[in-house]
Amino acid sequence: MKTITTAQEMYLALQSERRQGHSVGFVPTMGALHAGHISLVEASVRENACTAVSIFVNPTQFGPAEDLSRYPRTLDADTRMLKNAGCDYLFLPSVEEMYPPGASSWVSVEGLDQHLCGLSRPGHFRGVTTIVAKLFHIVRPDRAYFGQKDYQQARILQKMNRDLDFFIDLKIMPIVREADGLALSSRNRYLDHSQRQQALVLYRCLELARRTARDYRQNVPGLLSMLRAFVRSEAPQARIDYISLVDPESLEDVDRLQGSALLALAVFIGNTRLIDNTLLEA
Ligand code: AMP
Repeated sequence: MKTITTAQEMYLALQSERRQGHSVGFVPTMGALHAGHISLVEASVRENACTAVSIFVNPTQFGPAEDLSRYPRTLDADTRMLKNAGCDYLFLPSVEEMYPPGASSWVSVEGLDQHLCGLSRPGHFRGVTTIVAKLFHIVRPDRAYFGQKDYQQARILQKMNRDLDFFIDLKIMPIVREADGLALSSRNRYLDHSQRQQALVLYRCLELARRTARDYRQNVPGLLSMLRAFVRSEAPQARIDYISLVDPESLEDVDRLQGSALLALAVFIGNTRLIDNTLLEA
């Protein structure tokens, strides 16, 4: 695996791969890698002649009160995991490399950010789409891999891909979970023992929704208030940011369950904001 820190060198390395007729798969990450990230890398290795992964803790997607400075950084372990998974290129740019002084260009996908996480994290998705557009320009992948765990992010990036003609085959891969159901996340490292137990409430809430959704097909507000009451009783110290049932394409709230809908939630366990989601079928 080759580690590269400048955009120019990364661009040239991948250009040389493409010129040899090699397909390029790409997995953007913020590091602190876990089996969820590695599942994306493995999919890329299976489907492409060469795989590039970026690790960049992107400051423009963090709000002023968020965890940028304490975001976990575990580069040695990340590098080992990527080598074992068969990654060919690790792109590891500095903040100055990605945002040269005076950089003032943004990519924003309007509309889809007015729902779910976009409401409590203003500016977050503009940071995501800007950095991913830049990484796409540098790497020029044939395929790029994202996790359903960040469903709204993946939807917004799919729209950016269409709207701005990147012509990348964008794949959304299943959520990888711990044995007890907790979705893997770099932020799980923040949880102490008792918070780790409380964090299970997200998965249990999704399971409860899957079991009961049929009974609430005509009464989505009833379903959501039942789920909120469940979270409050199971994890009294947790703080619900949102529990919503939305159209999987438009991300707009639905009031009846017809076809498929996305149940998504964000819950603070202590200071740690965790998200999870599942698709429900009527
Ligand atoms: P991050 O490093 O948090 O920016 O995540 C990088 C990519 O890994 C994103 O596409 C995430 O959706 C994906 N990802 C994060 N957690 C998981 C998980 N538990 N299962 C599958 N993919 C994940």
